Amino acid sequence: MLTQNLGYPRIGGQRELKKVCENYWAGKTGLQNVLTVGKNIRQENWQLQKEAGIDIIPSNDFSYYDHVLDHSLLFGAIPKRYHDVIQKKGNAETDLYFAMARGYQKDGLDIVAMEMTKWFDTNYHYIVPEFYKDQQFKLFSTKIIDEFYEAKQLGIITKPVLIGPVSYLLLGKEKEAGFQRIDLLKNLLPVYIDILNKLKSFGMEWVQFDEPFLSMDLSEKEQQAFINTYKQLRKEFPFLKIVLATYFESLGDNTALAASLPVNVLHIDLVRAPQQLNEIIGQLPEKTILSLGIVDGRNIWKNNFDQSLAVIQQVKEKLGPERVWIAPSCSLIHSPCDLNNEKNEKVLTAEIKQWLSFAKQKISEVVLLKNLSEDNSGIGNQHKLAENRLINEARRSSALIHNPSVKQRVINMTEKDHKRISSFQTRKQLQQQLLNLPLFATTTIGSFPQTAEVRSWRAQFKKGSLTISEYNQLIEEETSKAVKWQEEIELDVLVHGEFERNDMVEYFGEQLAGFTFTQNGWVQSYGSRCVKPPIIYGDVSRPEAMTVKWSAYAQSLTSKWMKGMLTGPVTILQWSFVRNDQPRSETCTQIALAIRDEVCDLEVAGIKIIQIDEPAIREGLPLRKKDWEIYLEWAVKAFRISASGVQDNTQIHTHMCYSEFNDIISAIANMDADVITIETSRSQMELLDVFADFKYPNDIGPGVYDIHSPRIPKREEMTHLLKKAQAVIPDSQLWVNPDCGLKTRGWDETKKALIEMVSAAKEMRETVQTALSV
Ligand code: GLN
Ligand code: ZN
Repeated sequence: MLTQNLGYPRIGGQRELKKVCENYWAGKTGLQNVLTVGKNIRQENWQLQKEAGIDIIPSNDFSYYDHVLDHSLLFGAIPKRYHDVIQKKGNAETDLYFAMARGYQKDGLDIVAMEMTKWFDTNYHYIVPEFYKDQQFKLFSTKIIDEFYEAKQLGIITKPVLIGPVSYLLLGKEKEAGFQRIDLLKNLLPVYIDILNKLKSFGMEWVQFDEPFLSMDLSEKEQQAFINTYKQLRKEFPFLKIVLATYFESLGDNTALAASLPVNVLHIDLVRAPQQLNEIIGQLPEKTILSLGIVDGRNIWKNNFDQSLAVIQQVKEKLGPERVWIAPSCSLIHSPCDLNNEKNEKVLTAEIKQWLSFAKQKISEVVLLKNLSEDNSGIGNQHKLAENRLINEARRSSALIHNPSVKQRVINMTEKDHKRISSFQTRKQLQQQLLNLPLFATTTIGSFPQTAEVRSWRAQFKKGSLTISEYNQLIEEETSKAVKWQEEIELDVLVHGEFERNDMVEYFGEQLAGFTFTQNGWVQSYGSRCVKPPIIYGDVSRPEAMTVKWSAYAQSLTSKWMKGMLTGPVTILQWSFVRNDQPRSETCTQIALAIRDEVCDLEVAGIKIIQIDEPAIREGLPLRKKDWEIYLEWAVKAFRISASGVQDNTQIHTHMCYSEFNDIISAIANMDADVITIETSRSQMELLDVFADFKYPNDIGPGVYDIHSPRIPKREEMTHLLKKAQAVIPDSQLWVNPDCGLKTRGWDETKKALIEMVSAAKEMRETVQTALSV
């Protein structure tokens, strides 16, 4: 029995890589420093895995920005527009690489970055490979070889990790018509062979191919591509030891396919998909080793050794110990680095901390599981097993986790808790009577610029150099200025600006029971950007009102309608580490009830328009289509629970960004928000095509300008987009708003853009008036 790891976090325990890269991009440090920091992180990671006792340690899991982009560079899949960057004198390979990741505005060049998208259902974003017809590939970068050699010099023979050829192609996008990217395999495979030959000559024994697409729905052609690829690789390298890694879902209907591929080790994710185990064991060829991904690579809870050991024992009995490996479920880049960096008990209490395990601890868990399953007698190991039992038992029965009244409330829920009192048609009339809004009503998505000044107040308040009343006063002034200004430019529905919030999930997590935080629990989100997700450890409830004070204050400043602003249950769930001792749907329902309480309190305080943001609802979709329905059912229900406690004449809004709705439009309609504002401007309202076929029943505000760019849109551009929207959405259902919140923008551009937007709405009203009067 051996242990392996699939990949280790590469940002560094103190985010060293983030810091040095950002300094380099800002021109504050040299490339040499970036390379040194990278080298140190790699060495530390290898050493730490070796010392922990991992048998098969990965290399090429390190990356300066993104591992998919590393592969594009490795294969020379460099879009033409970057070729000028190579020509510029003095540019190193790393500059080309960063240009592809981030765009390039230097030396008289202005080149846009490559597109970025989510890595399966994680919060990691990768750079999407661009493919062209007849694309050729060639070995371009030596990173994978250099890293192998670097580790070898330290006395560690690593297992280089490559995204498998099929998954690499499927991760990309065709950038012109007339071909399918999977057809590029024949051009790509020779480069893989080239790389493997070089690595072999340096002494490589094991290689890992990540093929996460084996856990996804595959076409027949794609299945065939897997067969051909691995047959050919095996033909070229009869004795190479190959690990084939799958993760994030079960192999499902690809089980027979995966088992038939001529590899030495098949890795499966038993945390996400424990149910796949028996079927795979039944189909595994006689000599193939099964790597059990049994330590959760995507969440932060300590492993339950008794449970894991039972599974390992069962597999050992069926396959024999020499055909069993132990591993984390997936690469550990989705885990924070090291729990030992959490030293402040005011942030993370000792009781909760002992329930957790970050990447470094997970590595030890893998090794310990192997030792425990091989030899139960070692005193030290037995002691650790006993300790693990105690901790897991303590967590299970902790008073911190269980809140009987929350559990009872979930049980007591009935049909009417997720239904508004009347239908949308009735509500719309009652709301109109009360709110008296014009056609093409204007509003914004909630946040106004979080300037450096606003952020510095929060930092000072945290440090203690501002008292709470001083801090509140500053925020009040900022809010009041924003309200006045919105009145001046004649927006119809105002917002308070969210100046008091650090982050749309953290702000709520900090006020809800059942949540805790870390100081250093950073996880890479994209490039140098990291997030520090809250941890949901127990039953969720809302001890007291969270936003009422600020919303009521803002409403008191104006006779116009002030929109209350909340983050929805699915988004809070999706952007947190979630407890693993009950289904996600149940945790989501608890959050929904807490948000519902807030919605009701806002209503009582006189806030009659309330927005519940759900930008993450689409990204929560399961990887396999067959599982979508169940997810959408509980996710939509959770939103409805949060929204349904109010009177008919209270107007509920929701907002979503980066969403392609086409395939889930009926679920979106089912949320039954009175108004939905969505991102559409970047696609020139293309997203609205779906509304032509599907008669969306409620009101919609398709974003009329892109807030991700500092560019100020012209009135005509916005009326143009609105007219496009008019073609598929009746005037009576149309709202006018930007794409998303404005917190990342400056005041100057925000003001100019919104003035244009209001005048675009007025122009629209006039055209309708004239049309009516003729
Ligand atoms: N209300 C939030 C804001 O305006 C919404 C953010 C989001 O959509 N991600 O910032
Ligand atoms: Zn948004």
